[in-house]
Formats: sequence, C-alpha cells, structure tokens
Amino acid sequence: MSARVVVLGSGPAGLTAALYLSRANLAPTVFEGIQPGGQLTITTDVENFPGFPDGIMGPELMERMKAQCERFGTTFSWDGIESADLSSRPFKLNTTAGETVEADALVIATGATARLLGLENESRLMGHGVSACATCDGFFFQQKHVVVLGGGDSAMEEANFLTKFASKVTLVHRREEFRASRIMLERAQNNPKIEFLLNHSVVDVLGESKMNGLRLKNTITGDEHEMVADGFFLAIGHVPNTKAFAGQLETDESGYLITAADSTVTSIEGVFAAGDVQDHTYRQAVTAAGSGCMAALEAERWVEAQ
Ligand code: NAP
Repeated sequence: MSARVVVLGSGPAGLTAALYLSRANLAPTVFEGIQPGGQLTITTDVENFPGFPDGIMGPELMERMKAQCERFGTTFSWDGIESADLSSRPFKLNTTAGETVEADALVIATGATARLLGLENESRLMGHGVSACATCDGFFFQQKHVVVLGGGDSAMEEANFLTKFASKVTLVHRREEFRASRIMLERAQNNPKIEFLLNHSVVDVLGESKMNGLRLKNTITGDEHEMVADGFFLAIGHVPNTKAFAGQLETDESGYLITAADSTVTSIEGVFAAGDVQDHTYRQAVTAAGSGCMAALEAERWVEAQ
C-alpha cells in the first residue's frame, strides 16, 4: 500500500490532522494504534473541550471526531505500526499484519501511555487489583478501599471517579505541593470519601494472586509502613509512544519527539509530530487537536512543495 500522507494515532491530534488532510484532498490513512480514539476513550466527562457547555463523554467526543473524518474520506486501519524506516522517502512503515506501507509524508500522533513505577509486584498484580485506568476498572471496587497515586489532575480525577464505587479512596502523593489545577484539587479535597496521605511513595505492592496492600515510604523520614487496600490506581503521568521510530527522530531526555519552535516539523523532513507524543507541557485534548491541525497544514504545504 502507498499513501501520500499517513497519520499514526487516532486521538484528538491524529483525528484533527486527518480531518484537515482529508479536506485538502490528500486522502490520508489513519493507523488507529492499540487504543483507538486515544486516552479520551478511557476517561469519562470532558468538561473543558470548547463547544460542549454541558461536557461530553470522552468516547463520544472521539466517535464524533472519527465520523467527521470519515465524512471527508479518511481511511482507517486497525493495524499497528511495529517499526518504521524513515531514512529515505517514501517512508516505510511495517505493520503488525506484516505489510509494508509507504508514505510521502507522515504525521506522528501516537500519544503517550500511563507511566508505571516499575516494581516487580506492580506488573505481576496488574489487573489483579493494580490498574492505571479508573474508568476501565473502577467498577470492580464496589465498597472497597482503593489507593490512588499521584498529585496531578489525573490523580484527582481518578480519585473522584473512584468514590462512585469505593467506600474509601486514599490519595498518596510524594510531596505536599500539587501539580493538579485548583478546581480539580478542591473537588478531591471536598470529597468526604477521599483521604490524603502526603509525603509518601509506594515502594511495593503486596499480595499473592490478588493485591491486598501497599508498602509505603515516608519521603521525609524514610520510615516505611504497610497499608491494607483492595485496589491500587497509578496516576503518575505518561511516557510518549515512540518505540517504532527509536533512534531515528530527535527526542528530549524523556523520549518526547522534538519539534521546531511553533511548528510540528521534526528532525526528519516530511515527518510531523502532533499531540502528546511531542508535548509534555500542555497535554490537553484541545491543544492536541490544535497541533494536529498545524501538522496537517504543514504536511499539506510540504507535499505540495515536493
Ligand atoms: P502530571 O501532571 O505530570 O502529574 C503526575 C503526578 O504523578 C505528579 O504529581 C508527580 O509528582 C507524580 N509522579 C510522577 N512520577 C511518580 C513516581 N515515580 N512516584 C510517585 N509519584 C510520581 O500528570 P497527569 O496528572 O497525568 O496530567 C497530565 C496532563 O493532563 C496535565 O496537563 C493535566 O492538566 C492534564 N489532565 C487534565 C484533566 C482535566 O482537565 N480534566 C484530567 C487529567 C489530566 P510530582 O508532582 O512530585 O512530580
């Protein structure tokens, strides 16, 4: 298969890029990736996407964006991209189905994935009490005690969401200051089911076939103690999804793709990056969509100039 422009990823960045590329008659193909619709498909109410005064559910917003792309002729593929050869044009993308796709220009909007602590018992008990997605797994914790780790908006959102099911939520954060926005923090602080445990980190997840507690460490005194809990939700940020392009595009020390100032141009001509894969500052649906639009306009100009 050969396409003029291929979009990798189907979150707000990828779909906005596809929408603009379709309307420019470039008939893009979108490889949806392992999580079609991106991170918004595992969230609930989106209250800050302009145009929805009553909020909109994340999955519905993404379905609408996809329908809008389809209306203008975007083609979608469920295959993943395992590796890519960006050393010459057309770029070659190797899919999980064993095909090679050629593209004159590429928009990378592969987003980011939940960060884990890297503890052995955390991965062993993943899905058995340990989770990185409250929306996906919260339902299983009816009348249980769960712990949420993190001090950002995700942690506040997950903690609040989990109070719909859990009898008690303990929010553990490693320091006293929060990255979370004031409104999200206050909502959690005012929730009678949420208890805050500050200046603590998680050093181990306890349990044999199912998690039953955590080993916590006081980040000031170094003292450790165990806490009984039925569930553990990680909300400690994300890592960018760039494995398929490893070593080919310039990244920062955290692995985020580097783009030129005020642009989506990457270190390789014809490759553009949009959304969370290149943004560790704003990481909002609306900024991802905005950068997707920029990537499409820049890709369109670039293809025309060739
Ligand atoms: P974040 O803002 O980067 O916060 C990550 C949190 O995890 C920080 O409090 C950090 O602690 C903590 N953390 C990181 N590594 C850790 C470790 N190894 N052990 C313990 N704690 C660790 O990430 P986020 O909350 O996922 O939010 C990402 C972006 O999405 C933000 O821009 C946010 O505004 C946005 N977002 C918005 C909404 C909304 O508006 N509805 C909802 C969710 C997310 P330190 O603070 O000590 O570094």
